[in-house]
Amino acid sequence: MGLRLHNTLTRATEPFEPQDPERVGIYGCGPTIYGHAHIGNFRTFLFYDLVHRYLEWKGYGVHFVMNFTDVDDKTIRAAREAGVGIDEFTEPFAVAVLEEADALGMARFDLYPRATAYVDGMIELVQTLLDRELAYVTDDGSVFFDISAFPEYGKLSGKDLEQVRTGERVAGDEYGKDDVRDFALWKAVKPEDEEVGAAWDAPWGRGRPGWHLECSVMGLREVGTTLDLHLGGEDLIFPHHEDEIAQSEGATGHPFARYWLHVKHLRVEGSKMSKSLGNFITVRQLLDEGVSRAAIRHQLLSAQYRRELNFSRAGLEASEKAVARLVDFRDRLRRHPVDAAEGTESGPVARAAHEARAGFESAMDDDLNISGALGALFTFVNEVNAHLDREPVLAAGERDAALALVDSVDRVLGLVGLADRERVVDAEMEAWVQGRIEARAQARRDRDWSRADAIRDELSDRGIVLEDGPEGTRWKRVATGSGEP
Ligand code: AMP
Ligand code: ZN
Repeated sequence: MGLRLHNTLTRATEPFEPQDPERVGIYGCGPTIYGHAHIGNFRTFLFYDLVHRYLEWKGYGVHFVMNFTDVDDKTIRAAREAGVGIDEFTEPFAVAVLEEADALGMARFDLYPRATAYVDGMIELVQTLLDRELAYVTDDGSVFFDISAFPEYGKLSGKDLEQVRTGERVAGDEYGKDDVRDFALWKAVKPEDEEVGAAWDAPWGRGRPGWHLECSVMGLREVGTTLDLHLGGEDLIFPHHEDEIAQSEGATGHPFARYWLHVKHLRVEGSKMSKSLGNFITVRQLLDEGVSRAAIRHQLLSAQYRRELNFSRAGLEASEKAVARLVDFRDRLRRHPVDAAEGTESGPVARAAHEARAGFESAMDDDLNISGALGALFTFVNEVNAHLDREPVLAAGERDAALALVDSVDRVLGLVGLADRERVVDAEMEAWVQGRIEARAQARRDRDWSRADAIRDELSDRGIVLEDGPEGTRWKRVATGSGEP
C-alpha cells in the first residue's frame, strides 16, 4: 500500500498522488524572523524534514521550499524598537533558524525565499485580482480581497461565510473595507513602515504586502501553479491558508494545493506554550544548556503530527535513552564476532530486518505515523539484541542485513547520524576544555594570575564554568543567552 495522507481540505485520509513523482512540489510556511524560533515552531519544521526525507526514501524527487517571513506587523514593530531597518533586523534570525535546523539534523530544503525579495510578484498578483474584480482599492490606497466574489471562501477551514469574522472588530488600519470579512492584500504605507524600509511603490499607492499574499506568491513562483503539498501548523488553517487559497485560486483559476497538512501545536510540560506562562523555550536555549541534539530531535518527532505532543524534561531524558539504545545497538552489531564465510541473508536476523522495514514503511505510509514506525524499529532492536545474547557468532550476511536496516530507516529518522556527529563534537569539546584547564593550572603554578583569570573568562564566555576542588578542576556547561548570569 502506498502513502496516505490526511488532507485538511477534504477532511479525509487519501492516497498520495503527486502531479509528477519526479518533482513533488512542497511549500511549508516558515518562520517569522523577528526572534528566535521556539520548540513549537521546530515541531512543525522537523515534521517538514520528516516529510522531505520520507518522500525521498520512497523514491520520489522532491522540490521543497520553506519561506522566511521578513516583513509583517511583528518584524516591523520589532525592527522599530531596535532602531534598525527590517533587513538588518531580521538577518541574524534567519541565520539562527538555519543553524538550529542544522543542529537538529534537518536536511536542507531546496530554497528559503524571503518575502521582501518577491514584492514585484505580489504587486503583479494584486493587479490580477483587481483586474478580475476579486479585489478593490480603498481611499487610503490599501487593497482588500472581496470574499463575496469568491464563493469557495471557507472551503479549507469549513467556516461558513456568514460566520467568518462577523462581530469581530475592524482593525484600526482597515477601516476602509466594504465588509469586515475582507482581508488585506496590500496595506497603505504608514510612517513607521517607512522608518524601517518596509514600503514599496505600487500602481494604486505606496505600501506593503499582506502576510497571506507573501506565501501565495512565493509558493506560486518557486513551486508551481498547483503545489502537491502545502504544510503548516494548525493555527494557520484560518485565516492564513484560507486566504492563500482565495488569492491564488482567484488569480490562477487552478487549485493552489492538492494536499494540505497541518501540525498540531506542541505543548510544554502539559500547558500551552506562552511567554506569559514562562514556559517559552527556544531551541537556542536548549542547545546552550548542552541538551543532546538527537534527544531534542527525537522528542519533537516522536508523536504523529496530528496527535498531541507534550515537550517535557522527563520526556527529553526518555528520548536520550531511546537514541542511546539505537546507537549502542549499532555499535554492538559492529563489534559482534562474525563468521565471514557465512554470507546468508535468510537467517532470523535478516528476516527480522525485512519485517522491521515493512512495519516501518506501513506505519509511515499511514499518514506518517512516526510512533508506529519507531515501534517497529525498537521491536527489531529488542529481537536482535536477544539473538546476540544467545549467539556468540553471527553470519556476516545477517549482521550486514541488520546494519543496513538501521542505516536505511535512519535516512528518514536522522537520529543515529546526528548522535554520531554529536559524539565527535563532544569529544573535541572535551579535549579543548581539558587543554584550557591544563593551561590555567600552569599559569597558576607560574603565579601568573591574570593569565589564569583570562582563561577562566574565555571558558565562561563559552558557557563553561570551572569548579576547583580537592580532586582538581572540574567543568560544567551552563546556559548562555537565556537570561541567567
Ligand atoms: P511563525 O514563526 O509564528 O510564523 O510560525 C512558524 C511555523 O511554526 C508555522 O507553521 C506555525 O504554524 C508553527 N507553529 C507556531 N507555534 C507552534 C506550536 N506551538 N507548535 C507547533 N507548531 C507551531
Ligand atoms: Zn504561509
